[in-house]
Amino acid sequence: MENGSVNQAMFPTYARYPLTIVRGAGSKLWDAQGEEYLDFSSGLAVTNLGHSFEPVKEALKKQLDELWHVSNLFHTVPQQELAALLTEHTCADLVFFCNSGAEANEAAIKLARRYYQHVRGENRYEIITFKQSFHGRTLATLTATGQDKVKDGFAPLPEGFYCEALYNDLESVKAAINERTCAVMLELVQAEGGVIPADKEFVQQLRRLCDEHDLLLIFDEVQTGMGRTGTLFAYEQYGIEPDIFTVAKGLGNGFPIGAMLSKAKLVEAFGPGSHATTFGGTPIATAAAKAVLTYMIEHRVPEQARQMGEYLLGRLREELGGHPYVQEVRGLGMLIGVVCKGPAADLIKAAHEERLLVVPAGPNVVRLLPNLLLTKEEAEQGIQILTRVFRSQRS
Ligand SMILES: *Cc1c(COP(=O)(O)O)cnc(C)c1O
Repeated sequence: MENGSVNQAMFPTYARYPLTIVRGAGSKLWDAQGEEYLDFSSGLAVTNLGHSFEPVKEALKKQLDELWHVSNLFHTVPQQELAALLTEHTCADLVFFCNSGAEANEAAIKLARRYYQHVRGENRYEIITFKQSFHGRTLATLTATGQDKVKDGFAPLPEGFYCEALYNDLESVKAAINERTCAVMLELVQAEGGVIPADKEFVQQLRRLCDEHDLLLIFDEVQTGMGRTGTLFAYEQYGIEPDIFTVAKGLGNGFPIGAMLSKAKLVEAFGPGSHATTFGGTPIATAAAKAVLTYMIEHRVPEQARQMGEYLLGRLREELGGHPYVQEVRGLGMLIGVVCKGPAADLIKAAHEERLLVVPAGPNVVRLLPNLLLTKEEAEQGIQILTRVFRSQRS
């Protein structure tokens, strides 16, 4: 098949790059012509352990021979083991399994509402979210998202969201609280919104504000979770704990799985029959995620990511910090953005032509999402290519 050939049988919902990828291993991808690429996108923060990662492949093969699916009317061993691992290694006590980030956030939204309405008997349902945030593409999660472009043409939208709070601005959250408010939801690094990390003080004050007003604090860790920012979950770096958090992208290293996790006090809100999904936590999906999590914990992958992230950030600032088209290089762990003074699309295209796969985060940011096991040589190779691309850019 020709590289980037267009298939008329699919909705053109994605503005795809003209590349047809046929194979991957570690940090490398190969296209239909056999051309090799260094992958700094990890399928959008999904293949955090690299492509075709052997321990996950082995776990999947083993599970394929044993059991694929029985529905959530029965118990399965991999699901129970994954839930135990997740609660042992995080601040959460309870897990609900689903299939994607949007679904995990839907579950968080439903849990928050049901907790107040069903358990507490209060008519509170409004959730405060932030400008430039991204929480998914279902009707509720796109409504929670603080970007007009994802809502275009989908009215009427569900009620109960205020998505105009300003990130890193506590006063704007205070001003948004009313008698109907039940929760505040945010990403600890606004990833799709341009790789903007939350300030530590802001997050700590937000925790206090939520306690004062009896609100649930929800972290969307769909992109920041699974070691991406240098700890297993980003909240660990903020010295506080959320009431609810969500995970998806990196959880299965490419096998689709998501989860919504919460504190024990919310248990009654999600009793039998309250929420469900057919594919939530199948034996195959949970076997993959269990292999990912086990490897990350045993090999201290988040700590490796923290060190490599610091190295990348430092080297990129060294090489690109003074470039006339670069406004800033920012990020947390291995979620890094090169913020440009204008559109980043041409630079991203030029990087692809130089066999380095990077992706945007909004119109002006080149986003770097290498796998967390990236070697120093691969890091240096990527930095060299990116530096070359920026230096040959005409602005
Ligand atoms: C990707 C993403 C989502 C949506 O996840 P899907 O699996 O695409 O539904 C939600 N929140 C954040 C922060 C994300 O990065």
